[in-house]
Amino acid sequence: MEIIVGKYAGFCAGVTNAVVKTEEALKENSKIYCLGELIHNNQVMQKLQEHGLIVIDDLKEIKEKKKIIVRAHGIPKQVYKQADENGLELIDLTCPKVLNIHRKVEEYVNNGYYIFLVGEKKHPEIVGTYSFCSECGSIIEKMEYIDESIEIFKNSKYKKVVVISQTTFSSEKFDKIADEIRKKIPQNIEVITDKTICNATDLRQKETSRISKEVDLMIIIGGKNSSNTKKLYEISKENCKNVLLIETKKELDKDYIKKFNKIGIMAGASTPKWIIEEVSKCI
Ligand code: SF4
Repeated sequence: MEIIVGKYAGFCAGVTNAVVKTEEALKENSKIYCLGELIHNNQVMQKLQEHGLIVIDDLKEIKEKKKIIVRAHGIPKQVYKQADENGLELIDLTCPKVLNIHRKVEEYVNNGYYIFLVGEKKHPEIVGTYSFCSECGSIIEKMEYIDESIEIFKNSKYKKVVVISQTTFSSEKFDKIADEIRKKIPQNIEVITDKTICNATDLRQKETSRISKEVDLMIIIGGKNSSNTKKLYEISKENCKNVLLIETKKELDKDYIKKFNKIGIMAGASTPKWIIEEVSKCI
């Protein structure tokens, strides 16, 4: 049996930084709050929580003045303000690539552009980025949202548009949405496309597509709540008849796996190396 493990499987630079800095901070502080799950991986989260990480959804849940971690996805502008007003100390681990999008969005708005933010409405990164649009934008998650967003734009004071993306959005879907916007928007409107999909995501998705075309079984490892992991699963499904999405080796059925000659393994950005190695060894 041949096993191919993707070169880009697992932690990206932003997640590595968030996990390493959190572990360091937990060595110096017995308790630290984190706004939302640090990463979408139950096994890593469990370990961090055992060492004193407390996950909260809102600053109002804070009971004692401890440091607060801002995860790689970033937070909305108003949360920075709220923390400042309450004298709370943040350890800001927002990925530099996400911070770059916040900065770009603010610049576009200041230069008179209306923002079409392509991404998942409820994803924390999009919630954070949208706050930097100062309400001069629409979130487009699917093709079906384009017409409505164009209507909102037409009724606004804006005369130019920028189409920008969530860092972990599907590259292919982004291109389709951007093309459709160009087709539907009036000819006299300037449209800029700024494809801010993170390079790590792009490489991982391309590698997943390539490997899933070559194998008879594709195994995607990652949190079931991880959006980038789910995308790897969807990409693999398009190319391979047999695709499994698992969090750990415990979910593997060895008798089922024995049937295949060539198996591909990919993992989302929140999957640690040790879980990928455990799965590979188990096959
Ligand atoms: S996927 Fe890209 S943008 Fe997101 S945390 Fe990782 S490196 Fe940063």
